Amino acid sequence: MSTITIKVPDIGDFDKVEVIEVLVTAGETVNVEDSLITVESDKASMEIPSPQAGIIKSVSVQVGDNVSEGSNLLELEVIESSIDKTTTTESPVAEEQASKAFTETLNMQADSYDGEADQHAQVLVLGAGPGGYTAAFRAADLGKKVILVEKYDSLGGVCLNVGCIPSKALLHVAEVLEEAKEFTDLGVVFNQPEIDINKLRKHKNNVVGKLTGGLKQLAKQRKVTVVNGYGKFTSSHSIEVAAADGSKQVISFDNCIVSVGSSVFKLPFIPWDDKRVWDSTDALEVNTIPERLLIVGAGIIGLEMATVYHALGSKITIVGPELLPGVDRDLIRSFGRTLTKRYENIFVKAHLTGVTASDEGLICEFEGGKAPQQDTFDNVLVAVGRTPNGNLVDAEKAGLLVDDNGFINVDTQMRTNVDHIYAIGDVVGQPMLAHKATHEAKIAAEVIAGYKRHFDARTIPSVAYTSPEVAWCGKTEEELKAEGTEYEKGLFPWAASGRALSMGSEMGTTKVLYDKNSHQMLGAGIVGKNAGELIAEATLAIEMGAEIEDVALTIHPHPTLSETINFATEVAEGSCTDIYAPKK
Ligand SMILES: Cc1cc2nc3c(=O)[nH]c(=O)nc-3n(C[C@H](O)[C@H](O)[C@H](O)COP(=O)(O)OP(=O)(O)OC[C@H]3O[C@@H](n4cnc5c(N)ncnc54)[C@H](O)[C@@H]3O)c2cc1C
Repeated sequence: MSTITIKVPDIGDFDKVEVIEVLVTAGETVNVEDSLITVESDKASMEIPSPQAGIIKSVSVQVGDNVSEGSNLLELEVIESSIDKTTTTESPVAEEQASKAFTETLNMQADSYDGEADQHAQVLVLGAGPGGYTAAFRAADLGKKVILVEKYDSLGGVCLNVGCIPSKALLHVAEVLEEAKEFTDLGVVFNQPEIDINKLRKHKNNVVGKLTGGLKQLAKQRKVTVVNGYGKFTSSHSIEVAAADGSKQVISFDNCIVSVGSSVFKLPFIPWDDKRVWDSTDALEVNTIPERLLIVGAGIIGLEMATVYHALGSKITIVGPELLPGVDRDLIRSFGRTLTKRYENIFVKAHLTGVTASDEGLICEFEGGKAPQQDTFDNVLVAVGRTPNGNLVDAEKAGLLVDDNGFINVDTQMRTNVDHIYAIGDVVGQPMLAHKATHEAKIAAEVIAGYKRHFDARTIPSVAYTSPEVAWCGKTEEELKAEGTEYEKGLFPWAASGRALSMGSEMGTTKVLYDKNSHQMLGAGIVGKNAGELIAEATLAIEMGAEIEDVALTIHPHPTLSETINFATEVAEGSCTDIYAPKK
C-alpha cells in the first residue's frame, strides 16, 4: 500500500479558499470520487473528491482554515485495487483532474456559443416576473454578467402587473368597505360609500407603477442589462429576441434561467371577443361594476375577485367543482358558511357549459349541482386556472424537454435536462405562486454561481386573500388520511379568542395537524382576518420540524390572533384553558 497526499488543486484566479466542510475523519475508508473536503471562494464552493479508494490516515485541515493551491489536505493510504491501471497510478494525474474540475466550477465556463451574437451573457434570464427578476438580481449580486429578457416594458411579470399586487391593492379597498358595513352592528354607521372607479383604478396602477419602476432601478444599480422583446431559443447557447419594433438580436449565454411563467387558461367555448367576458387581467382593470357577475372557478383568483366585486356592489354567483380545491375541508366549512350568506349563489359540483352573447347580457348554461340550466349575467369572469408557457419558446432548439402540459421538468437545483439551462416559477409546476418562484430563483442563481443549493422546502404556504382570508401550509387532514399517516389535530374556534371577538372575526378557525408519534407539526390552516400573516408561524414550525409542544410552550402576546395558533396546539395536547377541550 502507498500513501499519497491530497492537496488543494489549481484554484484559478483565487489565492485562498476557505475550508467549509471536512467530510471525512482519520481511519475512514473512502471510495474513488467520494467527497473529502468542501472549499469555498467568494464565488463558488466545491467538494474535492478522492482520486483513489483508500483509508484516511490523517486530516491536516479543519473548518475555517484558509488554504491555497498546493496546501496539504489529508494523507490517504491507497487501496491498490482501486488504481486505474489503464491511465496512471500516480497521484499528480488525479490531482490534475481534480484541479481541472475545480477551476471549471469556479469559472463556470460552460460550452459557449460559436455563432454570431449581438451580446453575450454569463447568465441570461428569460422572463422578468418574480422568478426572473429575483434570479437576475441574485446572479448579478454573485458577480455574474446578467441579461434579463422581458417581452413587456414593465418588469415584474404577472405578479406585479396583473396578479398579486394589483389584486391586493383592490382587496384592501374591499376589506375596508366590508368592515365599514359590519360597523353598523356595532353602532357606528357610515354613509353609503361612493365609488369612483377611475380613482380606484388609478390607486391600483400607482401601486403597480411604484413597484415596477423600483425594479428598473434595482436592475440598473446591479448593472443587469434589460432587453425588451420576445425571446426564443435558437440553440442550446443562444436566443433570438424580437422587439416590438420588429428589430431582432441574438444573445448568446453560458447559462440560462427560463422563467417565462404562465398564461390565463382560456375555456374554448366562451365568446372571448365579447368585452363582457373577462379573464383575471380584465377584472383587475375595474372598468365597470356589473350588477350581476358570474365567476367561473372557485379557486384563489376567482374567490379574490368575488371579494373585490362584491364589496364594490356586484351580486356574485360562483360556479365550480368545489370551493378552494385542495384546502382542508374543516376550513372550507367555516369559510363556506360566510360566503353563502354573502353571495347571490354558490354552485359547487357544477360547471358552465356554454355562453351566448345577447343584448340583455351573457346567457350562461350550466350542468351539475344545484345550478339552474340557464341564467343571464352582465359579465362573466373566467378564472379556471393558468397554463405554463414552456411550449412558447422553441425549447426543442435548445434540446429542452417540455411536457405535454407546457411544464419544464427540473431537478432540486432547478436544472433542466440541459445542464446549463435552469427553469423556475410557474413554468416548472404547481403551486403557481410568486414566493415559490422567488425561492427557486435564488437556488438557480446560486447553483450557477457554484453554491451547493437545493430546493428542499418542506412546505410552501398558500393564502386566499378573501374575506375572511384562508391560509394553509403542510398537509391537509384529507391528505394525511389518504397516505395513512397516524396524526392528531387541534382545532381552535375563534369565537373563544378575545382579540377575534373584538375585531368581529369570531367565525374564524385555526387548525393544526401533527404526527401522532413524533408530535411534529405536519399541517396547519387558518380562516379569519389576517390568516395570511398568521400562517408564517406554522410554516416556520413545519420547516424547522417543531413539535406542537414547541408552539404550545412559546409565549404568544395577548390578546392577538396569533394566540389562536398557540391555543390550537394547546387543544391538541389537552392543555388549553380557553375552551373546554379535555384530551381524549
Ligand atoms: C390575479 C392573480 C393574482 C395572484 N395573486 C397571487 C398572490 O397573491 N400570491 C402569489 O404568491 N401568487 C399570486 N399569483 C400568482 C403569481 O402571479 C405567479 O405565481 C407568479 O407571477 C409567477 O412568477 P413567474 O416569474 O414564474 O412568472 P410570471 O410572473 O408569469 O412572469 C413571466 C414573465 O416572462 C415574460 N415572458 C414570457 N415569455 C417570454 C418570452 N418568450 N420572452 C420574453 N419574456 C417572456 C412575461 O411577459 C412575464 O413578465 C396571482 C396570479 C394572478 C393571475
